[in-house]
Amino acid sequence: MAPRGAGASTRLLALLGDPVAHSLSPRMQNAGIQALGLDGVYLCLRTSPGDVAGLIRGIAGSGGGGNVTLPHKEEAARVVEAPTEAVVRTGACNTFWMEDGVLRGDNTDVVGVRTAVTSLLGTPPTGARILLLGAGGAARGVALGLLMDDPERVAIRNRTPARGEELARLLDDPRVEAVAATPAGDEGWDLVVNATRLGLHPTDPLPLDPGQGRVGAVLDVVYGSRPTPLVERARELGIPAADGREMLLQQGMASFRHWWGVPAPEAALRAALEGP
Ligand code: NAP
Repeated sequence: MAPRGAGASTRLLALLGDPVAHSLSPRMQNAGIQALGLDGVYLCLRTSPGDVAGLIRGIAGSGGGGNVTLPHKEEAARVVEAPTEAVVRTGACNTFWMEDGVLRGDNTDVVGVRTAVTSLLGTPPTGARILLLGAGGAARGVALGLLMDDPERVAIRNRTPARGEELARLLDDPRVEAVAATPAGDEGWDLVVNATRLGLHPTDPLPLDPGQGRVGAVLDVVYGSRPTPLVERARELGIPAADGREMLLQQGMASFRHWWGVPAPEAALRAALEGP
């Protein structure tokens, strides 16, 4: 659904990433733009690594802004001139825009995951033992968001262990440790969060079988096929589980506010996400 009547003053908002074809952000953001009668359009641009910096500077410099998704969030964090604390602490940026001539960047995955976890658990994960799968761009925002609600422990498990260790070092928090490939843990996990890209494709293996060991709840930040294979497996086992749509909605609302300076119309964005 693209806004009608794009013209000479229409602002371009773009999602930079690869792949981007599965993204629900255009549907969601364009619904918000239309609901408020704003003059803008949100598009996806499949972006190769060498084009990230130029596109961010060019789009923001011409009055637009955008989101950044896999695998470019770390590169985006290096490009923006005025990063928020969330970008500095995670080394990842998912939202960029220009303000007062300065290229700004935020990581709205942080606020997005906090709201999504609270919605899944019915309460913030304070005191929880959490297993975080993945250490890429999304995992960085997820880890910081989880820590802000004061869990007992966040164990990071990543396919490439060095990257998990690097994220633990960056977060520099005694509650965080990188762990090697392991089953669900001796004492179990109150919450398992999948922030790997496993689940994007229907043939992907599960990032972890929640049937091995005690798992209290599962948040899959991946969305696409509905429900994702991990969410489907957890629910079969009677474990409360949610995919990445609530997090997508919440991070998208925070991004919208940066670009437009007004709160996003939540009902319009939510309806667009829940549509067919
Ligand atoms: P990324 O920076 O490319 O990181 C990918 C992560 O997946 C890394 O930890 C990587 O491990 C791991 N991985 C990739 N292939 C794997 C495999 N075959 N086996 C095990 N681990 C594998 O991507 P990202 O930006 O973090 O995004 C990850 C996912 O989160 C995507 O599906 C994205 O759509 C989703 N996401 C959702 C939201 C939301 O709002 N719901 C927000 C952000 C992202 P290595 O380090 O070993 O390569």
